Amino acid sequence: MTNTSIKELQHLLLENMDATLNRSGVSGTRLAFRLAELAKIGLTEENGSYRIGYSLEEKAAKELVANWMEEAGLKVRTDSAGNVFGRLAGRQDHMPSILSGSHVDSVPNGGHFDGPLGVLAALEVVEAWKETGYQPEFPYEVVIFSDEEGARFNGGLTGSRAVVGDIDMEKQVTLMDLNGDDFTTVIKNYGLAAESFTDASRDLATIKAYIEVHIEQGKVLEKANVPVGVVTGIAGPLWLKISIIGEAGHAGNTPMIGRKDALVAAGEFIAAIPLLPSTVSDSAVATIGKVEVHPNGVNVIPGKVDLYVDVRDIYTDTVEQLVEAILAKAKEITQKYEITFDYEQTLKVDPFLVKETLIETLTKAVEKEGIKPVYLPSGAGHDAMILGRYIPTAMIFARSKNGVSHNPLEWTSLSDCLHAVHVLKNAIEKLNENN
Ligand SMILES: [Zn+2]
Repeated sequence: MTNTSIKELQHLLLENMDATLNRSGVSGTRLAFRLAELAKIGLTEENGSYRIGYSLEEKAAKELVANWMEEAGLKVRTDSAGNVFGRLAGRQDHMPSILSGSHVDSVPNGGHFDGPLGVLAALEVVEAWKETGYQPEFPYEVVIFSDEEGARFNGGLTGSRAVVGDIDMEKQVTLMDLNGDDFTTVIKNYGLAAESFTDASRDLATIKAYIEVHIEQGKVLEKANVPVGVVTGIAGPLWLKISIIGEAGHAGNTPMIGRKDALVAAGEFIAAIPLLPSTVSDSAVATIGKVEVHPNGVNVIPGKVDLYVDVRDIYTDTVEQLVEAILAKAKEITQKYEITFDYEQTLKVDPFLVKETLIETLTKAVEKEGIKPVYLPSGAGHDAMILGRYIPTAMIFARSKNGVSHNPLEWTSLSDCLHAVHVLKNAIEKLNENN
């Protein structure tokens, strides 16, 4: 859409803002302007966001935020995985940093809050401190992680994994994107090099804690009628690529009897998936969101279908049980059609639980705003769960309208965004009191 719609975004954000949230140096006007400016990059016809990982759009979004970081007085650097860090010196500048941020990549035609809110909230804390003359005890870094969503290589969390040293480069270079470009080429086009990619691995002793603000992407906070919530843990995603292998043939010359049509079997498999999660737990979910048909010709019997299954739960054992059930179903259906299947696990992130001491810090930060603390798990994966394996990590969720995300209709009111900024600021200031 045109710029009018984005002016509209800024306008829509501002028109219902609770002006009393413009305090302690935090500015709703600035946050609304920045959300709208970021939304202009990769704007789709449906008014959504198209900024997939390691695209020029993602890069432009990072550069825009990096400029704002510099204007705010942060020392900005980009690591060899494209992650951007803006650092504010602490009174005890040799001490480990407190980090906050998120990502600016999106899924194809995604929304304007998933990721950008976390980055801009972290930056708004710096702006607020600048206006009030506060200098933190510890260094503070605003971070933008690369390729969180994984829309490009069916992986995701790439930047944060590079920071903690969890990238298997041998595997990474075999990845192909939507256009058939391999990882090395994509990275090169972006301005990075595959050879130095893992240099992004950071000495984790230089990080004291990581706190991420993110939209909820669910309806728990809306139902509880609170603007923000404290995340207790994150259900890590597990991705399976399942290939159903039949036999290609001419759609005209091959009789119906004896065909080995991989797509027909895949159709039955897709329809069976929604029935499986409830057999292992109440919170488990499984989704097939991507399908590739080979050779994908109108007059050719499909010889192979690749299906991408996303499996999630907050417990490790039920995730495993669900994977077993899915593979058993693939076996059952392919046997019925006298064809075969193959599978590969392309992503597995263990569930992560937030430490009790950080939950307490966030609880106080929420209560300071006069908000009743609400606790909830995250069903979506985030950079926080990657960092959470190595360093104290917590998350603050902001209420999502109708629970919608990964969609142009994604919405979080500016007041809710500002509540999240205040809670983040309170929490970081609290962490600065504990030497
Ligand atoms: Zn996100």
